[in-house]
Amino acid sequence: MQLDMDLGKAFSEIEKSEAKSILLQFPEGLKQRIVEIAGKFEERFSGRDIYSIIDPCFGACDIPIGKMKAMNVDLVVHFGHNAVLENRNIIYVPLEYRAKDEEIEKMFGRIYSELQKEKIGNITMAASVQYLDIMNRIAKKLEGNGVNVLLSEGSGRTKEKGQVLGCNYHSIRKIANAEAVVFIGDAMFHALGLVLSTRKKVIFFDASEMKIRYLDKEKELFLRKRFAAIAMAKDSNKFGILLSTKAGQERKGLALELKKEIEHKGKEAFILVSDYLLPEYAIGIDVDCFVNTACPRIAIDDASGWKKPIVNPNELEIALGIKDWENYKMEELE
Ligand code: SF4
Repeated sequence: MQLDMDLGKAFSEIEKSEAKSILLQFPEGLKQRIVEIAGKFEERFSGRDIYSIIDPCFGACDIPIGKMKAMNVDLVVHFGHNAVLENRNIIYVPLEYRAKDEEIEKMFGRIYSELQKEKIGNITMAASVQYLDIMNRIAKKLEGNGVNVLLSEGSGRTKEKGQVLGCNYHSIRKIANAEAVVFIGDAMFHALGLVLSTRKKVIFFDASEMKIRYLDKEKELFLRKRFAAIAMAKDSNKFGILLSTKAGQERKGLALELKKEIEHKGKEAFILVSDYLLPEYAIGIDVDCFVNTACPRIAIDDASGWKKPIVNPNELEIALGIKDWENYKMEELE
């Protein structure tokens, strides 16, 4: 398997446009290729101004709308992800794994034999953006072998069938008839999010290790950690509500709503604003607990870095007695 990007579409869209200045945006994993990729744009579009952003970027939710305006550029090319935010001045160039036929055959074989072992004939499939092409090819082979594969349309911030993000699992919601979800990817976070978003069995095909995984133990550990964070939030009196100004993470309305809910319980809340939310920025801020309204992964993946408990909005509402712990789900962004 090899990660690949199709620059051709971006080139032809730029050629058709009258853009004179272009801002290139790279996710962290592509930084080492900035010179190579920007070089191709310089060569192809000599006479136009090409800029490369080196600020950290982890998703297509982080489109540089502010920089576009401040620098007065005509177009952004965002590499690595497909569209989360629609904007006619943004071209997305996703990074996708390309697999050879024999690799697809091997992956299909592992998944098909697991389905046979479990006696499952109706499934839905999901994948992160890098694995969508592989998922679609395996889906076709499964269907050719009698498995009923139901793929639902992307919804909200996911535009492709079956696509999931670390902050959105809507694309598997409408599949009432499926007996299981087969997720193809390499990120445990996505698979765990699916486990917590559906009552169906989740079969995780970990493409980095080429093996099937079930996440019962991981789910239990995850819930134990989140339960502990919620218990600490319950005992807190002073909250710092973290609000990111990133285009696809900014939830000002929610931050204001949560502030009211906290104050309604006789506690204090302060809204803390930053573009990029890093634990170092919060050092010395005198609150008992942080509430993260930005990318939900900040409170989950980076929890230990924050030094104080950090919860997502759904978890705060459990701590305040507004929601039940029984129906716990991963926080999602629309
Ligand atoms: Fe990814 Fe987080 Fe952005 Fe969602 S909010 S697209 S999980 S970086």
